[in-house]
Amino acid sequence: MQHPSGRMSDLHTSSRFEPSDALPRPRRPARRGLLRSMFFQAEAEVTQEQGQALARIVLAALGTLLFFMARQFGYGDQPLLVALAYMLASFFYLSFVSRNKERYLWRRYVLILLDLAVATYITAYFSSAGLAFYPLFLWVMIGNGIRYGERCMQFATLFGLLSFSGAMAISGFLWEHPGTYLGLMIGLVLMPKFFMVMIDRLSAANIELKVQKEQAEFMATHDVLTGLPNRAYLHTRMEQTLADAKRTDTQVAVAFIDLDSFKSINDSFGHEYGDFLLCQVADAMRGVLRAGDTVSRLGGDEFVVVVEDSDDGVRVSRVIERLFSCVGRYYTIGEYETYVTWSCGVAVYPRDGTDIHSLLKHADTAMYAAKSQGTNRFAFYDAAMSARVGEQLALRDDLRQALDRDQLEVYFQPIIDVHTGRVVSAEALLRWHHPQKGTLSPVCFIEVAEQSGLINPIGEWVLREALRMAVRWRAQSASDFKVHVNVSAHQLRQAGFEGLVASSLRSAGLPSQTLELEMTESALIEDSARTGALLEALKAIGVKIALDDFGTGFSSLSYLKSLPVDSIKIDKSFIDDLPAGGRSGALVESILMLGKRLDNHIVAEGVERQAQLEWLIAHGCRYLQGFHFSPPVPMERFLALAGTRFEISSAYQPPRRADWAQRSH
Ligand code: C2E
Ligand code: CA
Ligand code: CA
Repeated sequence: MQHPSGRMSDLHTSSRFEPSDALPRPRRPARRGLLRSMFFQAEAEVTQEQGQALARIVLAALGTLLFFMARQFGYGDQPLLVALAYMLASFFYLSFVSRNKERYLWRRYVLILLDLAVATYITAYFSSAGLAFYPLFLWVMIGNGIRYGERCMQFATLFGLLSFSGAMAISGFLWEHPGTYLGLMIGLVLMPKFFMVMIDRLSAANIELKVQKEQAEFMATHDVLTGLPNRAYLHTRMEQTLADAKRTDTQVAVAFIDLDSFKSINDSFGHEYGDFLLCQVADAMRGVLRAGDTVSRLGGDEFVVVVEDSDDGVRVSRVIERLFSCVGRYYTIGEYETYVTWSCGVAVYPRDGTDIHSLLKHADTAMYAAKSQGTNRFAFYDAAMSARVGEQLALRDDLRQALDRDQLEVYFQPIIDVHTGRVVSAEALLRWHHPQKGTLSPVCFIEVAEQSGLINPIGEWVLREALRMAVRWRAQSASDFKVHVNVSAHQLRQAGFEGLVASSLRSAGLPSQTLELEMTESALIEDSARTGALLEALKAIGVKIALDDFGTGFSSLSYLKSLPVDSIKIDKSFIDDLPAGGRSGALVESILMLGKRLDNHIVAEGVERQAQLEWLIAHGCRYLQGFHFSPPVPMERFLALAGTRFEISSAYQPPRRADWAQRSH
């Protein structure tokens, strides 16, 4: 697509505000005159110097007329001749500056000398008029000085003083009134200086005004923090872009970008750091966009990129790819390093909307859909998305009220020690009794809770409920037990999380080893430096750590070695395949062996069938959890069940176990 030249660079927004340090020269208004046809091209503007020459010609013509008439009354020919000569010289000057536009700087000195010569002549000739022509000298000196600058001013002052003295000497004034003459000389020296200073001051004030005006304009159209264009500017820009696209029948992509979990970064590190991060992100974005693409900040952590001429979507994908690769990375904020990812939704003109409002709305919808699929993703808008996103948004609104309206409840699921058949721990699992949808598993709403930041208050509440149950359990049981609480990545990023855990334990009056926090590998990997420190802090309190859903993430062994993990929970998907599953079986076996070597407790999740149980026991898995024993149940029911001794019978004999034992001898 062709951009009208100029507009692109004017509007491309990536520059921060920099006031220009000099005033542009005002353009001279065009002056048309009698002599135009002689010296000027038809449409060309009359320059400043041509204008001055013309003024001199007119003055000289008037003088000629005057002296011509004066001659009738007995004055001599001389003044008339001088006026004619001056007019002739002015013609020469005019023709000279018309041809050699900017080349010969000395022409200005010639003009000054010419003017001074005439002033001297007139003053000397009309000596009877006293000092009436003194202003002529001032005019030559100040006028030329202001017009042509410091050097010309000095030149004009020097020769002005000489010629004025000459005129005074010729007229005899100098000898008659030397004091007055001296005063006038001082005036001639000081006045041009005075004018120069005044002009400097005025133009400085003018520059300041202009800077202020530019600044005000900038503030009205740009975001003060990042220097990116703001919403108002985006609208103006999009209006033009869409009009162009309509005319040229091209497409425009609008990408709505939102940082993932910016809120928790803000909460954990403080607003100053959040602002700093936004600036870094804005800079990174500016760096990868082409002139013609606009990036603007709508507010908060929301950015909009408008990409023109995206006829096949390939360019848009490429631009977004570039943005992802430059922005999704580690950012250093003070002493912290945090990994920032973002989600992006794209709507395309004219397919997804023909006006600014609907394009932005649909891009936002697509962004929300992308975000609900996980972090660091982008999605193009489609109509079905609107419905899905609408549902999610409704769910989010409902969830806001769920806590206040007592719709949340924590269920507990027992974890059994196969050595004794007794319940040794309980996993706290959240339930939402939704008024329309019935009882919901966190699978349906944990994402919404994370995106909206509700996960922090909800997680805090779950922790308190779990500890409340533990207090009651302790009152009815003499043996040691643990309560497992799931913690999401968002909670780990919450500032002061360890303090929250410590104070909750304290106010419940429970020993800290009663609590075991379950977190997934992906939550830990997200910001390794910080989570490492956090885990150490939690360990220092005495809290236990479990690695949840093990096997589904990176399952890096070096990770297991370096992190202070107490237990590992083998993901249900591996247990499902038992006892037959070849690869799963091998994997579970090796996790069990690893657990033994690293002295970790291994918990098998989702044990549903007797056969699974037998296989697991035969392979040395000590802790089991699953529907085979009990589904998650409300607190009262769990407390009733906590003392149960489960019947564990394992008739299972692993086929190769004997061989293996023999081989190891
Ligand atoms: P998870 O931590 O892997 O929890 C185990 C899930 O497996 C639970 O689902 C549990 O009900 C289910 N489960 C246990 N045994 C069996 C079984 O034998 N068969 C089958 N089919 N399922 C079994 P639930 O309660 O729906 O929770 C789902 C996920 O939601 C949890 O997965 C956990 O990641 C998350 N979650 C639950 N409560 C909380 C919470 O309070 N905070 C946070 N951040 N996440 C939570
Ligand atoms: Ca769990
Ligand atoms: Ca799990």
